Amino acid sequence: MVLYAADQGEYGKRLVVLTKECGKVTMFANNARKPKNPLVSACRIFAMGSFTVKRGRDSYTLYSADISERFAGLELDMEKFCHASYFCEFMSYYTHEGEYSKDMLNLLYLAIKAVEKGEPELNLVRRVFELKTMTFAGEGPNVSGCVSCGLKDAGAWFSVNKGGVLCDACGRLAKDAVRISPTVAYTLKYIASSPLTALFGFALKSDAMDEFERICDAFVKRYVDREFKSLAILSGIV
Ligand SMILES: [Zn+2]
Repeated sequence: MVLYAADQGEYGKRLVVLTKECGKVTMFANNARKPKNPLVSACRIFAMGSFTVKRGRDSYTLYSADISERFAGLELDMEKFCHASYFCEFMSYYTHEGEYSKDMLNLLYLAIKAVEKGEPELNLVRRVFELKTMTFAGEGPNVSGCVSCGLKDAGAWFSVNKGGVLCDACGRLAKDAVRISPTVAYTLKYIASSPLTALFGFALKSDAMDEFERICDAFVKRYVDREFKSLAILSGIV
């Protein structure tokens, strides 16, 4: 899937593409901006399909592409388009060249599908996507037990600085820990362990959503060392 597309030189395009086999790859599509060039539809953000490239000394050249999904409907809805763009930018931060990235690619595809559909609500899709991406990257919240003492039956408290849930005794001692509701504790565990196909199949009531959003946003802010352009645009429109 194309995560990013920019003009390059007089007629070309530079693409950043997330691939199943080789992770995040930069490729150049020469002449893609000339009228009637067959690569036009492949050189847009969200274009998904198979890409045939030739490897050069330090870059790839795109020769042909068979595009199976373009998410064209997103262009009609600014809020949806910005969410999906942010997902691409966030994913780009967490992926690298040379890494097998099937799970990351599937996650991105399903998240953008959920955005296109508008279900569940975009605020929830965004937080679920962020946490699952971080989990795949090994940087998600630790929810399997208390991060301080290891107690299995933990989840009454959450500490952003300690990176996960705490049992009642440790939660009371940790300075930045906040109490979390059983719904939010369950949601955090669900996101960490759920298969991708079931990941966007639930909704939260507004109280739980507010709480979940606060926890996620604090967690992402603490551990993601990057300002996202698309997120700045998104905050401007919602
Ligand atoms: Zn503990």
